Amino acid sequence: MIEVHSLKIDYGSPGTAVRAVDGVDFSLARGRSLALIGPSGCGKTTILFAIAGLLPPTEGKITISGTPVTGPRRDVALILQNAGLLPWKTVWQNANLSLLLSGDYPKQDAGAVLDELGLSEVRNRYPAELSEGMKRRVGIARALSTAPSVMLMDEPLASLDTLTRERIQDLFLTLWHEHGFSLVLVTHDIEEAVFLGQEILVLTGRPARIKAVVENPGMGGLDYRESPEYTATMRRVREVLEG
Ligand code: ADP
Ligand code: MG
Repeated sequence: MIEVHSLKIDYGSPGTAVRAVDGVDFSLARGRSLALIGPSGCGKTTILFAIAGLLPPTEGKITISGTPVTGPRRDVALILQNAGLLPWKTVWQNANLSLLLSGDYPKQDAGAVLDELGLSEVRNRYPAELSEGMKRRVGIARALSTAPSVMLMDEPLASLDTLTRERIQDLFLTLWHEHGFSLVLVTHDIEEAVFLGQEILVLTGRPARIKAVVENPGMGGLDYRESPEYTATMRRVREVLEG
């Protein structure tokens, strides 16, 4: 589904360029999930933006379903840290923004997804009238509204309190099972990576390279946090990050 070959990305012009990503290779089969974890500033967002078609590789190649990525694609959704809601638009308008931009609204709308996420009753409210958790759910609704086959998430749950974060992680897991999208999650949070990633790529500090790949076959259940395997995998990821 997603193939990343020898990806290198520099910022700035040749001569004074800063290398952010230095030879990253991975692939992700359809419907699977992958977490990218690494220290702050290592190049995680850069990798994700390249997959989203927002940033051209300096060297290397990215393909999705066999086609080279040359720009944003309809079947790829991106969720950013603060949900990216427009404060002057209602929940309904915010959730339908991607469909509006793609010209599919009002033929298609986010109604069913808002129902699924329990947001129908607040559809006429503005973001300022919502809790943080609800705001994130509106961002998720927007991403799901186009029925993407690839979901890219850049620290989508940063700065949420622990319980809200876990509740939304549970929601992501359920949506991943039900909608079947391939998931690439960028995070600096070990618990989040281990709860949501079937495979965890641990990155070095900048420039990002792959330090280790941690397999996490036990993930997938809502009760995974209770299992010894979850704890052991977290310990393993922590060791690699620190080592
Ligand atoms: P992460 O998401 O892992 O925190 P980023 O991918 O955002 O890291 O950034 C990786 C590195 O590239 C950082 O050191 C950052 O300072 C640098 N960087 C990011 N964007 C730019 C830019 N537009 N110009 C120059 N350097 C940048
Ligand atoms: Mg980032």
